[in-house]
Amino acid sequence: MTTLVSYFKSLPKCHVLDPSIKTEAYIPLDLSVDNDDLNTVDVSSSIALDQYISSYIKAKRAKVAYGGYLEKRNIYNRSAYFNAANPETERNIHLGLDLWIAAGTPIFAPLEAKIHSFKNNMNFGDYGPTIVLEHHIKDIRFYTLYGHLSLESLENIQIGQTLAKGQQIATLGDSTVNGDYAPHLHFQIIKDMQGHVGDYPGVCSSLDLEFYKKNCPDPNLLLKP
Ligand SMILES: [Zn+2]
Repeated sequence: MTTLVSYFKSLPKCHVLDPSIKTEAYIPLDLSVDNDDLNTVDVSSSIALDQYISSYIKAKRAKVAYGGYLEKRNIYNRSAYFNAANPETERNIHLGLDLWIAAGTPIFAPLEAKIHSFKNNMNFGDYGPTIVLEHHIKDIRFYTLYGHLSLESLENIQIGQTLAKGQQIATLGDSTVNGDYAPHLHFQIIKDMQGHVGDYPGVCSSLDLEFYKKNCPDPNLLLKP
C-alpha cells in the first residue's frame, strides 16, 4: 500500500490559495519561541501580531507568509484552552501549516474531496469557522482541516458534498470570528480523525508530540510552498 508521505511526494504542488500567486510571493515566517523579533511584539494581541506579520510581508515584497509545522510557540499561552498553566500538558506545538494573508481571501480544495464535517469552534484562541475535507484517492484516505474561516464559509454547505480539485471551499475570516488572530488559514493533514467532527487539535503538548507527528504529516509535502 502506498504510504501517505510517498503519495504526497509523487504529486505536483497543490493549492489552497489562488494558484496564480507565484511561488516567489510566499515567504517563510518563524513564529517560534526562537524568533527574538517577537520579544518586542505583544503576541497576545491579534492587532499587534497582524501589524508585525503585515510589515514583514511588505518588507519582503511578498504576498503570503507561511510556516509553523511543529513550531513551538508562545502565542497560545494567553488562553486557558491550551493549558498554559501546566508546563507538562501545555499545548504549544503547532501541527498545521499557517498561511498568513488578508481576510476575505478565497480558499480552494487542493485535491478532489467531499465535506467530512464543519463547525464554528468558538473557544478563545480556537479556530472559529472550520471545515474538514475527506479525500479518498486510490487506496488512500486522509483528511484536511481548514481553520480560521469566515462565518459565510459555513453557509450553504453540506456534509458529504463533493468538491473538485481547485473548487473554492471558503474565504478567510477576520479576528472578530477566527478565535482572535491576525487573519490566516490553518491547514492541517490528518490521517485518523479519531471521531472528531468539524474540529481536530491543531496544537499539542510535547508529551503527545510523537503520536500527533505521525497522525498529522507535514503539510509542506502537499503544498510545496
Ligand atoms: Zn495554525
